[in-house]
Amino acid sequence: MIIECIDKKDIEKLTTVINTTKQLQSKEIIKGNPRLIFNNIDKQLNKTNLIEVICNNNRELINSCGGIDSFKSQVKEKFRLGGREKDRSVSVVFEVTSTVRKEILKRRINLEWESVYAKDYISLMQCFKCYRFGHKSDKCKENIPICGQCGQSGHDFKNCKSNDIKCIVCARANIKGCKINHVARDTKCPSMLKIKDKIMKSIDYGQC
Ligand SMILES: [Zn+2]
Ligand SMILES: [Zn+2]
Ligand SMILES: [Zn+2]
Repeated sequence: MIIECIDKKDIEKLTTVINTTKQLQSKEIIKGNPRLIFNNIDKQLNKTNLIEVICNNNRELINSCGGIDSFKSQVKEKFRLGGREKDRSVSVVFEVTSTVRKEILKRRINLEWESVYAKDYISLMQCFKCYRFGHKSDKCKENIPICGQCGQSGHDFKNCKSNDIKCIVCARANIKGCKINHVARDTKCPSMLKIKDKIMKSIDYGQC
């Protein structure tokens, strides 16, 4: 059984109650930190420069996060997306604490010449060979491709000649009453949204 607690005190109280009962045992589930994505960041700004630029140009944000040192300890650049030779800008993904997340999402973040809005970043990698989540097609263990359009195996969606549209993700999930007449990459696929929701529940967004 999973019980969600609002704050640390509640967790402590509950843990004491549970652990004094002989038949029960408790374990605290630590949620992961949220991630934020900053788009259109000048590629020239490396990891160190970017954080300095943010610190220098966003006094209000830094103050509300307890000063520069406190801010820096709560923000970690995880990776960058894009940035091929012809690109001038990249997207940067940061891991932050729930406090910093709230403060960053409240306002535009000033950089050197422009300002940007950060957005929540949730990675939901989907394989376009088997349409499962959590890996890309180059790491797929399936030998035969599955069609993202009709859900049949033996061809991919580019070579689909069927008139049927059947989402293989939903067909596999087999949820009662779930509509499956959409493609497997549909951004509104109910099974995909369910997985996304589960991921979001495992992240510590703090008190809203
Ligand atoms: Zn796969
Ligand atoms: Zn097909
Ligand atoms: Zn679906």
